[in-house]
Amino acid sequence: MAVAPDLKATTVAQVVVETRVGSASGLFDYRIPDALLGQVQVGQRVQVPFGKRSATGFVYALTEAPGVVNPRPIAAIIDAEPLVPAYLLELAGWISHHYLAPLDEVIRAIVPPRVRAVSKRVSPGPRRASRILKRAAVRSAAQPGPLLEAAQQAAVDRIQVALQRQESRTFLLHGVTGSGKTEVYLTLLAQVLEAGGQGLALVPEIALTPQTVARFADRFPGRLAVLHSGLTEAERAAEWWRIRRGEAAIVVGSRSAVFAPLPRLRLIVIDEEEASAFKQDRLPRYHAPSVARRLAVDRQAVLVLGSATPGVVTYARALAGQDQLLELPHRVLGRPLPPVRIIDMRAELHVGRFSPLSLPLQEAMARTLAAGQQTILFLNRRGLATFVLCRDCGSVRECPHCSVALVYHGARSRLQCHYCGAEEPLPTRCPACGSKYIKSFGVGTERIEQEVRSLFPAARVVRLDRDVVRTRDAADLVFEQLVQGRADVLVGTQLVAKGFDLPKVTTVGVVNADTSLHFPDYRAAERTFSLLTQVAGRAGRGPHPAEVFIQTYTPDHPAVRHAQYHDYRAFFREELELRRRYRFPPLTELIIATVAHRDRDRAEADAQAFAREVSATIDSLKLGDIEVLGPSPAFLHRLQDEYRFEVTIKGPALDRIRDRVPRTRGWSLDVDPM
Ligand code: ADP
Ligand code: ZN
Ligand code: ZN
Repeated sequence: MAVAPDLKATTVAQVVVETRVGSASGLFDYRIPDALLGQVQVGQRVQVPFGKRSATGFVYALTEAPGVVNPRPIAAIIDAEPLVPAYLLELAGWISHHYLAPLDEVIRAIVPPRVRAVSKRVSPGPRRASRILKRAAVRSAAQPGPLLEAAQQAAVDRIQVALQRQESRTFLLHGVTGSGKTEVYLTLLAQVLEAGGQGLALVPEIALTPQTVARFADRFPGRLAVLHSGLTEAERAAEWWRIRRGEAAIVVGSRSAVFAPLPRLRLIVIDEEEASAFKQDRLPRYHAPSVARRLAVDRQAVLVLGSATPGVVTYARALAGQDQLLELPHRVLGRPLPPVRIIDMRAELHVGRFSPLSLPLQEAMARTLAAGQQTILFLNRRGLATFVLCRDCGSVRECPHCSVALVYHGARSRLQCHYCGAEEPLPTRCPACGSKYIKSFGVGTERIEQEVRSLFPAARVVRLDRDVVRTRDAADLVFEQLVQGRADVLVGTQLVAKGFDLPKVTTVGVVNADTSLHFPDYRAAERTFSLLTQVAGRAGRGPHPAEVFIQTYTPDHPAVRHAQYHDYRAFFREELELRRRYRFPPLTELIIATVAHRDRDRAEADAQAFAREVSATIDSLKLGDIEVLGPSPAFLHRLQDEYRFEVTIKGPALDRIRDRVPRTRGWSLDVDPM
């Protein structure tokens, strides 16, 4: 056994090793051997001994005080220069702490796999680019934007002051749909670029349409990078390197683009900041706007959150003066917001009309078709029917692996689980009792498409949902058909709710406003209001008058009532009152732990142990304002053959116990769940 080295003279590196076992943090101490002294930097990859093998890790921090006695030495340095800028590792540390996620999982989220991989050299040479990247590449000269209107200019001026002073400030740009928010972002980003800085724009994945990308590419030819989930791993790595080398200084992307390596970052823009797509639903469960807040403070950058329907939490912050509220209350060019009609579907049933499309909506569609204009029909559910029921015994066909009803997809004549993907043929007899009286109920997009075809045989109908978007360019093709006037009616899910700016759309129909209302989630009303407002916002973006129809069985619900008048403030006030009464964010914080196991009793016992441990911590710290709720069966009690139990920690300032929440790999901890 060697003599323990003199640790005072030895520098130690904390290294994130991708282990997925052992240490809950993913962080390990290594000694820097004499031969490498002075060469190890934060952000470099290094080769280290790990157990009996050798592993790759990222240098996270340098320290003189190791947490273990006699750490093992680093074997070799892989990158001469740090692969990842040091600021991103600091950000990784914050995410790991705040979202209770192991550091190695955070690094996996931050650095694309092809960039991380040591063996494969990524060639930035010729590649078969997706249409979206091609589109970003063809532009050569920057196209000027329109002259800003007074309200837009006022917002730009306010934000610009903060940019020039390099103050870390957050602005909430609350502007109705079509008020020209995107033009504000583009103008500010252009100023940042001109001043030698770098800028980042995040949009929800589904709003990252070819049209959005084209608008950015027109402004920043050659300097724009696009990061979204439709890229191949090779494309993603190539875009990452263009950013890392400084060739691209403006990045537009979805959630994970917040990790683009931009050391001169001056401005972060987040459009539709309330979108749940900004919250990652697997490890690490980070929320990109919250990460961006942290980043803006750290980098002295400006953060602009834009939306027609800001999250209740965000708007409350702005009203309290923590962020600066800027408003664009009108559409550009004096265009009106479209009138919205609420259709009570119960009344339709009473007069014997059973079509999922109400008579007023059908009539508007007929007028729109005759005028050579376009209709968008929105429904939050794909498939032909949403469940299959036996009329003899009443049993609903469920997924064999999950506690949810299977959805009938007519095109493939199969039942599918929307949670695990399992499929089976449509049964001809009830699997429970053998009766042949089985029938499908409920309406999905496929059914609506059929209905439109039978009501309007001459109409050219296109559908956009995840069944259609099997290939990555499908959304692009559908969009082109609409732009070129080769389609009359678009039927779709959330994929059609955002980002489309089509001047000929004069009728918009929400087939069923209630589908997103009944989720056991405190944000259901907020999400529904936002979705209805966004969908309605697709109408009347050109010079022609337009109309929106919201079909519902709950016309009195606040989310529906206030969407009718595009009245965000009224919705916000009512919703905040409910949040106050039932103690939900922003009045409190939440952490939800989900414990899953194939054995139901084991899952429940583990969840009970978790709840007991947290309760004991709360008692010992005398934190009477923090509650522990549960365990209770999760909404999806069974998922992919595992039983799930939930424990909720609820209270203000959960930072007081954050470090004492039990962390076991395999349990899902969701901080600030959405
Ligand atoms: P938002 O992001 O608020 O929905 P956009 O920036 O997409 O609004 O603007 C809506 C439409 O109006 C776009 O087609 C855009 O090109 C156009 N537009 C925006 N600002 C102006 C302006 N100042 N003058 C003329 N057209 C504008
Ligand atoms: Zn039956
Ligand atoms: Zn399933």
